[in-house]
Parts: sequence; structure tokens; C-alpha cells
Amino acid sequence: MPAGIDLDRLVGRLDAIARHGALDGGGVRRLALSDADGAARDQFVAWCRAAQLQVRIDRIGNVLARRAGVEDQLPAVVIGSHLDSQVNAGRFDGALGVLVGLEILMTLNQSGVRTRHPIEVASWTDEEGARFNTGMLGSSTYIGRLDLDDALGRADPDDVRVRDALERIGYDGDAAVPGPPLRAYLELHIEQGSVLENAAIDVGVVDRSYPVCHLDVRFTGETAHPGSAPMERRRNALVGAARAIVAVDELIRDHGPDAKAGCGVISVWPNRSGIIPSRVGARFDFRHPETAEVRRIDAEIEKALHDAAAAASVEIEIVQRATYGGRPFHPGCVAALEHAAAARRIPTLRLATQAAHDATVIVDRYPAAMVFCPCRRGISHHPDEHVDPARIEASANVLMDAAVALAEGSDDL
Ligand SMILES: [Zn+2]
Repeated sequence: MPAGIDLDRLVGRLDAIARHGALDGGGVRRLALSDADGAARDQFVAWCRAAQLQVRIDRIGNVLARRAGVEDQLPAVVIGSHLDSQVNAGRFDGALGVLVGLEILMTLNQSGVRTRHPIEVASWTDEEGARFNTGMLGSSTYIGRLDLDDALGRADPDDVRVRDALERIGYDGDAAVPGPPLRAYLELHIEQGSVLENAAIDVGVVDRSYPVCHLDVRFTGETAHPGSAPMERRRNALVGAARAIVAVDELIRDHGPDAKAGCGVISVWPNRSGIIPSRVGARFDFRHPETAEVRRIDAEIEKALHDAAAAASVEIEIVQRATYGGRPFHPGCVAALEHAAAARRIPTLRLATQAAHDATVIVDRYPAAMVFCPCRRGISHHPDEHVDPARIEASANVLMDAAVALAEGSDDL
């Protein structure tokens, strides 16, 4: 086995990718399928080709770069994450996991390690959902959870479809989705929380994910003149939404510190001066580590939404309900990570991911697990997101050893 990854090379690549979509004063804005995302993809693909990896692009734009196995027809062990970012993001969320995957494959090449199963690095399309309002778009399509035509037809706020955005940046690939089966999927990500930092541990083995629920809600009232309409007869959809947003923020606090809920996106129609709005769309999200508690919260939120709508004399409809995560990560993958860490005498901590990731979707179909590395003060989705490079190395080496072990194995996981 190789001694370890080349940390300087990895950090150099992180710096190079962070230039694509760089914000003044640090951080990045690299929305999925934007010019910046396209340029970051081009750079990544060029590095993969230079490393003699076989690159393929699938029909939803996922990039997969393959290091052949001795028995190359066997399903691949895939290491991946995403290159797209939120609108006001840090440079590590996503990009770190993709570049660690590439770094691992380059390290294996240099060491001449052969594995039975192929190992691939994946850069999944649009994990964040910041542009097309659909998180984990590429990985969901890869595993067949999301239909390809549905995914390609999703639109951004300017009504640009995924299909056209992919074509524009040249990532409308031809590899089939759903993609070929995976032997295992491993993802390294920043924790986006403070558990590891507080425990002074560099490697978090993620063995489960919070179930995350999204409720897309429509409030319907009536347009009217904001001057002449009597207050008691108004049916202002925005008032209904506002009451609901505050009610959800208040009720979730009774469920303990592990419960999180909120609303971060609304659309208002007509959203003009001089007219009371008649339609508001809002997305609420909520999560808790225990599924039973999520159900209780769901019921409470639904009641709060109806009460808020009634108080504002508007109608309410839940138009879509989506759940991500909640499934434990695969014990075989978790064990591979812990064995790898033990062999290197690296202390680990088991924890849950509060955020959804490509891995929390992929585990619905294939064995998967994640490794977290600590990020400063848990800050993420903000330009101040920071990871001490020295604290990445242990996680990357553990991931490499676990990936090789899984790629060597002959048993079903
Ligand atoms: Zn991420």
C-alpha cells in the first residue's frame, strides 16, 4: 500500500478549482452548469485524462473517471462528491471530495497498486440544488431515483432547462443513466458542523444520516388594491406564508437541539408594488436524527401551515413532499473505513450527517459510507468555510485504504 496521498498536490488542485467562480474576498459561487462550473469540470477532466484515467460523461452530465481493475468487468468502487456550489459558498464543500478521489487514484497509479475491481472518481451534477431547485440531481438520476427526462426538464429561475444548460457547457454526455451498478460508494466531505472540531478528532466515520424532508407549499389568496381593500376582507397569500414561516421557526424549538426546520425560499406573485399578492410558493425543510420524531414534526408543521393559512384567510396546498436520507450507511463500508483508520492508528469518531449529500442518496441503492474532516467552527455555505489542510490528510488516507480494501474484496458486501 502507498504511504499516503500527496497533500501538497491536493491543496494545489483545491486552490486551482477555487479560482473558478471565485468571489471577491474569498469563497466561490459556482452554480451547477454555469460557466464557472463548466470551467471547473474542464479542469477536472483534463487532470483525469493526464492521469491516464478513462473519462466518461453520462446523460445527466455526471463525470466519471475510471482506473481499471484486474477484473475490469466487476462493478466499480466509486469515490465522489460535487464541483457545483451554493451561491455564497466556501471552496471545500464538494470540491474537496472530488479532488481527494482524483488524488487517491493518482497515488495508486504512482505506487503501481492493482485492484480487482475498478475504482472510479465521480463528480456528480448539481448536488446543491441551488440553481435548479433539485438537490443531488446527478446522483439521483444515476441510481434511477429520478427519471432522466424529468431531471433534464428541471428549470432554473430564468427558465433555462438542465438539458440546455448541459449542452451549452458541453456536458450533455452519452453514457447511459441509470449508470452501471456500484460495488461501493465512498465520499469525503467537510463536516459542516462542529462535532469533530470539539472532539479534536480529524476523521469522522459517518454511519447514518438525518432524514431530511422538503415540503413545497402553495398559499393562494386574492389580488386586491393595497389601499382600498378593507383589512378584514384581504386574502394576502404573503401574510399566510409569513405566519407559517414564523410558526415553524417557533415550534421546532420544542423538539430539542437536534431538530432543525426553516424556510429559505419563497416566490411571490405578482410581487409588484400596488397589488396584494395572491400566490406564494414556499419550501420548508426539516430534519431530526430519529425517523419517528421526524413524523411527529411533520404532523405539527402541517397543522401549523393550515392554522397560518386560516388566520390569513388564504388557501394552502402541499404540492410536493420529498424525503432524503435517513437510511444507515452500509455496515461493510463503515467497517472498511474503521479498519483502515485502525491500521494507520488514526483515531476516529462515528457521527451522523445532518446535511444531505450524494452519498445519502446513493445508499438507497448501493453500499455507501462517508468520511468527514473537521471544518473551522462548523461554518459552511459561507465564504469563511475553512479546513486546515493538515487535517485533510488523515481522512484522505483512510478513504484510500478503505477503497482499495473494498476493491480487492471478493465477497458481496
Ligand atoms: Zn456538499
